[in-house]
Amino acid sequence: MSGSKRECKLSANKINAGRALDKGRAPRYNYAMLLTDIHTHSTWSADADSPLEDMVQTARQKGLAYFGVSEHFDYDYIPAGLTYNGSPVRTDEEGYFAQARALQRQLNDKNFTFLAGCELGYTDDPATQNTYSALIQKFSPDFVVNSVHTCDGYDCWFGDYFDGKDKNYAYSRYLERVLRSLSAPYRYDIVAHIGYVSRNAPYAYPKLRYSDFAALYDAILTGIISRGKILEVNSSSRGAGSAFLPDTDVLARYFELGGREVSFASDAHFVGRICAGRVEVVSALKKIGFEYITVPCRGERIKVPI
Ligand SMILES: [Zn+2]
Ligand SMILES: [Zn+2]
Repeated sequence: MSGSKRECKLSANKINAGRALDKGRAPRYNYAMLLTDIHTHSTWSADADSPLEDMVQTARQKGLAYFGVSEHFDYDYIPAGLTYNGSPVRTDEEGYFAQARALQRQLNDKNFTFLAGCELGYTDDPATQNTYSALIQKFSPDFVVNSVHTCDGYDCWFGDYFDGKDKNYAYSRYLERVLRSLSAPYRYDIVAHIGYVSRNAPYAYPKLRYSDFAALYDAILTGIISRGKILEVNSSSRGAGSAFLPDTDVLARYFELGGREVSFASDAHFVGRICAGRVEVVSALKKIGFEYITVPCRGERIKVPI
């Protein structure tokens, strides 16, 4: 029954069984050990290094309960006039989903759920938004990650985005685009790596702090909450000036505003980074008051206690 809703239910039952531990009932599963990593990549993405089967097998061997791969669909590059080092942007949709579904049938069981998702690069371009809608309709990804990578014709990962821009302008433009991305006209579950713009920023103090952009952040965080979306905590922070994105100042504000849905993502692009930084992220979340991490699973929201 892999690839069906039943699998989510089985896993949710397992968590409920774990909760029974607290109530003195027969312990059947130690939920404290449940590991999640939702939002990773394999070589179906142009910038990743490990094949999909290796990623999934490694996650299973590491004992993850939920492992989500979300290959890049960077079709936002097309209206921005961007390429992958001179080559047109393309992801083999058929190939990826066919292999992912086969691996689910082969490897998913009561202790391990591999979720086949996608990471959609947000763009304001209506034609590309329609392409994303059609992709979701055709392949029914188990979860969808909504990401802002491009802004004003550049990918914010690369230095040329920052040419002639001071930090306030470069970051404001990025956050404004994150805000617009929340209104994407297609199904999505997770708002990814807020602060992506700071990963490779050239500024002496690159951190994208809550206090510097409070109004924009509040609009984004309340938008996530009102739409019932999940705020991702991403441990691939690179040179952002913090251990994960967004940092605790933003997460604390989200909690204060009533936000409770958070996911963990290593954003691993090779097997060695699966679950990297999870301990630090969970520790920070618990300190703020979060009690669970949310896993989106085919329209359901599974709460994994932390
Ligand atoms: Zn991304
Ligand atoms: Zn990613």
